[in-house]
Amino acid sequence: MKNFAYVRATSVQEAVTRSIDDNEARFIAGGTNLLDRIKGYLENPSQVIDISRLQMQPIEPLPEGGLRIGALATNTAVADYPYVRRHYPLLSRAILSGASQQIRNVATVGGNLLQRTRCAYFYDPAFPCNKRQPGSGCSAITGINRTHAILGASDRCVAVHPSDMCVALAALDAVVEVEGWQGTRQIPFHDFHRLPGNTPERDTNLEAGELITAVILPALPAAKSGVYLKLRDRTSYTFALVSVAAAVELAENRIRDVRIALGGVAHKPWRALEAEQFLREKPVDVALFQQAANIALQAAKPLQHNSFKVEMAKRAIEKALVTSVRKGSKP
Ligand SMILES: Cc1cc2nc3c(=O)[nH]c(=O)nc-3n(C[C@H](O)[C@H](O)[C@H](O)COP(=O)(O)OP(=O)(O)OC[C@H]3O[C@@H](n4cnc5c(N)ncnc54)[C@H](O)[C@@H]3O)c2cc1C
Ligand code: SF4
Repeated sequence: MKNFAYVRATSVQEAVTRSIDDNEARFIAGGTNLLDRIKGYLENPSQVIDISRLQMQPIEPLPEGGLRIGALATNTAVADYPYVRRHYPLLSRAILSGASQQIRNVATVGGNLLQRTRCAYFYDPAFPCNKRQPGSGCSAITGINRTHAILGASDRCVAVHPSDMCVALAALDAVVEVEGWQGTRQIPFHDFHRLPGNTPERDTNLEAGELITAVILPALPAAKSGVYLKLRDRTSYTFALVSVAAAVELAENRIRDVRIALGGVAHKPWRALEAEQFLREKPVDVALFQQAANIALQAAKPLQHNSFKVEMAKRAIEKALVTSVRKGSKP
């Protein structure tokens, strides 16, 4: 690990100003991802700005419905928060399916949004990787790519986004609140993370120096029946091969609203908007769910070792929709 300066920010403004003044500075919250990256020589910050003592922990229901979750709320605090469990159970389930209790106790919401891919080549400086070193090549495209993307990838990078929580946030139409040199701005979740394109080194549309201050969830009736399904190589403590956040709101056995987001398949949490559109106002019917799953995966381009993910994702979508409908039908 290279030497770096350590400063503890005393205000959001101080953190932002320090970061704008030094583009090699990094914020640290829980540290569960950043420290691994520093120790692995993937990041060599000039200074680490500790934001963990800033007042960004509160989780607050909003007067007009919905919820504001401070960026420093821990993953455990969000998953256990009664309002989240009641109104957004898929968010709680998604968080609890990730990492371990010890990690969730310190990992924060802001850090979870900005954790980096788990592509093994990214973490191993012996291999070329366009995300780590732009222009060096992508080892995964011709290497072992069993866990990599089947949707939205480019010839520069086929990595997937690792977060479970973010899949639920994509389904819930969350909004990310950030503070930067121009003041506060809000980024719809769909626009927050990026596809790799020609710039896989950029994971998000955050501008230099911007600090995430909160995530805002709109009031969403469908969310109450939401489910999160995570398929992985072992039952705990590993990242998703495929995951699905799904929520269905019924009106007299017809689908009034439906949300489908996928994890483990793309460089960003993947919202299946066309499949949702296909299902809206249709009756509840498993055959239609299967058609929707086909629509969601019709653009899939599997790699040498991960074609199994296409069928896995289709079946996961169908199962998640059926489970959500059952949940929503209960009095
Ligand atoms: C062994 C292990 C297993 C894991 N398994 C899973 C899993 O199954 N599913 C899953 O979803 N996750 C998993 N994780 C990832 C874990 O959830 C993340 O490491 C964690 O959420 C990151 O949060 P943090 O607060 O520790 O972030 P940090 O490590 O402090 O920061 C991560 C990044 O975010 C930036 N950052 C942090 N806060 C802010 C902010 N407010 N504004 C701007 N930038 C910020 C930092 O500069 C850094 O670049 C696992 C992690 C480990 C170590
Ligand atoms: S998939 Fe992306 S992160 Fe993995 S080696 Fe290729 S460029 Fe790097």
